Amino acid sequence: MNLPPTPGLSPIRPLTAHRPASADEQALQYPLGDTLPEPGRAQALPGGLRWLRMGLPFALDHINLWLLPDQIDGRRGWTVVDCGIDDATTRENWASVFETALDGLPVLRVLVTHMHPDHIGLAHWLCERFSTPDHECRLWISATDWHVARLASQASLGQGGADAASFFASHGLLDEASLAKVRARRGYYGSLVPAVPPRYARLHDGLVLHIDGRPWRCIAGYGHAPEHIALFRADDAVLISGDMVLPRISTNVSVYEAEPEADPLPMFLDSIERLRALPAGTLVLPSHGRPFHGLHTRIDQLQRHHAERLAEVLQACQAAPRSAAEMLAVLFKRPLDLHQTTFAMGEAVAHLHALWGRGTLRRQRGADGVWRFVAG
Ligand SMILES: [Zn+2]
Repeated sequence: MNLPPTPGLSPIRPLTAHRPASADEQALQYPLGDTLPEPGRAQALPGGLRWLRMGLPFALDHINLWLLPDQIDGRRGWTVVDCGIDDATTRENWASVFETALDGLPVLRVLVTHMHPDHIGLAHWLCERFSTPDHECRLWISATDWHVARLASQASLGQGGADAASFFASHGLLDEASLAKVRARRGYYGSLVPAVPPRYARLHDGLVLHIDGRPWRCIAGYGHAPEHIALFRADDAVLISGDMVLPRISTNVSVYEAEPEADPLPMFLDSIERLRALPAGTLVLPSHGRPFHGLHTRIDQLQRHHAERLAEVLQACQAAPRSAAEMLAVLFKRPLDLHQTTFAMGEAVAHLHALWGRGTLRRQRGADGVWRFVAG
């Protein structure tokens, strides 16, 4: 695809390949090739959209954000989709976006696909910065994710503290040094999302938003976040998929301490299956990785990936009762740091619970307090 040069937008920069593309990645088509936006610059996309990329201080080192031309109450400006975490570098990059990529127009509203820190972190700052006495720059998000984000930013909920440590211990993570680090990680969410706007507008499944007069349909998805919203524009088949469909990595589907019996994997698989109704030629704009064509192929790959992981987990639990911690080596086959281990534990529990939920595995609690899952 040839893109016209757009004033103020970034020159093309090659993707730094840090590992060879897998066969699954090669089965997808990347219409922009290796082009990536520079930090603080935007890359033009078809249909007037612009693509931003912000850094993240994790193994997953970036997030994609989207700028959509918009008009609200006669004002021209931009709808922003997702925000980046709240840190100095992301704020600086946004400041240069304001200078170079908005054509001198304001942000009119901030749309957030879900409550994870890399998506909602700077929503409060963007909304405050662009609100004026006669136009409030509004956060748009699902009701569930707004409420969970508000709670989480004010508390230690999620991914840290004593509750998380005892949840991981109940699933067999008994290494005291790791548990001490999890306990010490209170307030982790709030460190990345210090505030969430006090008012919002609600996104929900089936809602049609008119952005610059063009209809975008909200598609709710479950299993990754409480109520994730993807956005689909039918007139030129563009899907802002958030984290529900990613081209390179599989979406994190985890059980957390606040809902210890949760069974999110079937919800996730059902949600991506619903996306199969979208046209095969849909341009997918994912939150991580490159824009791609091949939505149906990617859904097939993800369904297959989880079916294989479930088969491996079942096989392990047929040999002997197994805890989630014992499943890490089965599922991940590579060394994990603590941050990755906490994600991986949540994913291992999710796979065990999917088999438990359908009655293929049952669970039993050992004298050591650890849940183990066994076939039959
Ligand atoms: Zn997410």
